Amino acid sequence: MTAKLYAMTCGRLVGRLKDMIEGEDGQVALPIPSYLIEHPKGRALFDTGMHPQCRSDATGRLGERVARIFGFEQYGPQDDVKSRLEAIDRDPGRIDFIVNSHLHFDHAGGNELVPNATMVVQKREWQAAQDAETAAKVGFYRADFDHGHKVLQVDGEHDLFGDGSVVCLPTYGHTPGHQSLKVRTEAGEVVITGDACYFCRTLRERRLPRFVWDREQMLASLDRLDALEKGGARLFFGHDPDFWKDVPQAPVPAF
Ligand SMILES: [Zn+2]
Repeated sequence: MTAKLYAMTCGRLVGRLKDMIEGEDGQVALPIPSYLIEHPKGRALFDTGMHPQCRSDATGRLGERVARIFGFEQYGPQDDVKSRLEAIDRDPGRIDFIVNSHLHFDHAGGNELVPNATMVVQKREWQAAQDAETAAKVGFYRADFDHGHKVLQVDGEHDLFGDGSVVCLPTYGHTPGHQSLKVRTEAGEVVITGDACYFCRTLRERRLPRFVWDREQMLASLDRLDALEKGGARLFFGHDPDFWKDVPQAPVPAF
């Protein structure tokens, strides 16, 4: 069995390059991806981008410090995940699963707009989010993920549809329970890295972002992604503007 994979860039987040990759300067407009995965047994999203409130009131949503670091001017009214799904005639109310790579605001912010899905998150990510002190340290906001979704906490690899075509892969380090997603399409195997690997050169040059929950774990996750690529998988990098220029947008399959 294979699945269909569609990419949707849900706006861009302007930030400082030095926060994303050590040793560089200047500003960068980071694509904020959400992926739609369609399988005969159901429909899943991998990440949901940002909440629309980030556009109208970033300070109210994220607090002054974070709202000051980032620019939201490239996140338009049609860029949220709900609008992107509706633009390709998919009903956000009929998504079965949200697989969150992790719970940062640019990955889980749109969960509220996809009300009937079951969230699939790593157990250690969910536990970190439940502890107020840890959550504050990692940079989680309850407003992103606390909307009464059913939550499936997984521990390590998880085969979403039971046939090996869509598999959660633990890639801890960026946050306590970050995960990536392996998707088997007709064209071959894709691994959506999420923020385990922001840019292509993060992997090639092993240059980590400024914010890392666990450096050793993150490096081990990069080794794992590297091995998957060498085994023939096509990697989709988390926020790489150069890579994203060539990624076809839904409704054209991403790969
Ligand atoms: Zn991110």
